[in-house]
Amino acid sequence: MGYIYAQDSKGRFNKLVCDKCGQAGARKYRCPFEYCQPIALCPTCRKMHPELVSRKTHRDAGCEKLHIEFTTKMDKEKDMREHGIYIRCSAMGVNDGLVHVLFKNKDHIIGYYMDTETYHAIPLGEIAMPSDYLKHGPMYDAPSDYVWGDNKPTVSRSVLVALQCVKDASLGPNPVNFSLGYKPRPASSNA
Ligand SMILES: [Zn+2]
Ligand SMILES: [Zn+2]
Repeated sequence: MGYIYAQDSKGRFNKLVCDKCGQAGARKYRCPFEYCQPIALCPTCRKMHPELVSRKTHRDAGCEKLHIEFTTKMDKEKDMREHGIYIRCSAMGVNDGLVHVLFKNKDHIIGYYMDTETYHAIPLGEIAMPSDYLKHGPMYDAPSDYVWGDNKPTVSRSVLVALQCVKDASLGPNPVNFSLGYKPRPASSNA
């Protein structure tokens, strides 16, 4: 990843080098599906290798599929957060083999401690709610933000009580009818 720059006549490194032939004087061409990194091409290579920026090449390389998967996931995640559902947003290792994981919905953040193995049980690319982790190991109440620096508390496993259930959604003005697994549903009109 990254581009190579050559020196111009004033000695500044601002002449983009062609990814194909290594000549300076290239410009960037975007992926037709806005997925992979723009390719740097000089005018000659741009002319001689139109396939480098073609839809077919990038489709064959998986750019279209991955772009759709990525945006679909982002849309789903946004929709879930809008519905009040907490989605993993960040994690920080603490002591005793525990990880402090924060989950965020539209308005709020909550935190849980869990074992390192539990945390790694769900790949980082996946949408993860608190209850998804509870299927992999014990979880414990934790603050909703991190403490940095010298005041960082040590967490003692001996005082932690494993939770039997965890909160997946906040109760907002539109309560989420939630069980394990995400199923968005229209508001009930039962009176
Ligand atoms: Zn070139
Ligand atoms: Zn591409």
